[in-house]
Amino acid sequence: MPYILLAITVVGAIALHLWWQRRYARLQGECARQKQSISDSQQKHDQEIMQKQAEQQALFNSMTEGVLILDPSGHVQLVNRSLQQFFDLKTDVRGQTLMEAFRLQELVELVRRIQEERAVQDHEMELPGTSGCWLQVNAAAVLDGGGVQHGSILVFHDLTRLKQLENTRQEFVANVSHELRTPLSLIKGFVETLLDGAKNDPELSTRFLQTIEKHADRLTYLIEDLLTISKLESGQIVMNLHEVNLHEEVVRVIEDLQSRASGKNVKLQNTLSPDLTAHADADRLEQVLFNLIENAIKYGREAGTIIIGGKPVADNKIEMWVQDDGPGIPPEARERVFERFYRVDRARSRETGGTGLGLSIVKHIVQAHSGEVSVKSEPGAGTTFFFTLPQSKE
Ligand code: ADP
Repeated sequence: MPYILLAITVVGAIALHLWWQRRYARLQGECARQKQSISDSQQKHDQEIMQKQAEQQALFNSMTEGVLILDPSGHVQLVNRSLQQFFDLKTDVRGQTLMEAFRLQELVELVRRIQEERAVQDHEMELPGTSGCWLQVNAAAVLDGGGVQHGSILVFHDLTRLKQLENTRQEFVANVSHELRTPLSLIKGFVETLLDGAKNDPELSTRFLQTIEKHADRLTYLIEDLLTISKLESGQIVMNLHEVNLHEEVVRVIEDLQSRASGKNVKLQNTLSPDLTAHADADRLEQVLFNLIENAIKYGREAGTIIIGGKPVADNKIEMWVQDDGPGIPPEARERVFERFYRVDRARSRETGGTGLGLSIVKHIVQAHSGEVSVKSEPGAGTTFFFTLPQSKE
């Protein structure tokens, strides 16, 4: 009997042990499963956060504006690619103070103002160490629902192009006013002298009236050239492209300028092959040739020779040139002669009725034909202006 009881107890203990072991194993399994699922969801959560951060960074990096985010203590939290480029940042500045990262007191001052005033601040700044790079900064405090500040965000827009356009506009207005004022004040001066008595001297009054006519003509040319430039720049002039015989175009322009050339005893030579053609706007091409040949006569030498030539070149283009044997253009002025109102010798240009816009018009017209202009000149050895046009379509 005691053996039976002992056996039952042993069997019971073993069964209990086995049951307990299985239960323990089951509990452990459940626990491990739970742990695994917690770590899985944690991993998923971390991955989602990383994915979101990567998406945010990609979004910020794709912006043309520079973005800078500061944490509540004023340390750099995020900088996008455009901002790195604006400030030429070579290292990772995250975690640094504004002063450490950018070394610009005006940015520190701007952030101090948003902390105090909480309102969006607009600020324009010139980038130090650059020649005329301007940024506009919109700075704002990052606030939570309760109005507590959690940092600052600064967005930087590149203003350089706008500033350049504004400068060009101001310069243009100043130049135009100057160009208009000079002949007008001369005309007024001569009229006053005539009224003061010079009109009674027939010889003097004829000379003064001729001078007045010359300056009135200059005003007319100036206004015509200004209108042409403004139409070309705003794309209002549509090029009427068709097959143009270049030799014949040059003949026409030479006819128009022959008396001017003869006045200076200058020879005009058309060396173009009679069958050379281009895909161009005939009227505008005449204007280009007129301006270049007229300049060659004006600025070339007395009894000189002007050669007008052309030939097919690479990329289905025709290159044309106008070559004179005049005094040439100094090296520092060569690139600038295509700028509006630029003259090497201001007095000479005025005297010859120049507006300072002729080569600028040439450049615009050639560019409207997808061509390029250039100039080669040696002081004392003449000047050659080159331009390209598209070849005629087969
Ligand atoms: P402008 O009305 O003064 O002639 P342009 O734009 O036609 O204006 O020319 C700009 C300047 O380039 C001229 O004032 C002149 O100084 C210089 N220039 C143009 N063509 C020649 C040339 N063939 N030889 C020397 N200088 C030239």
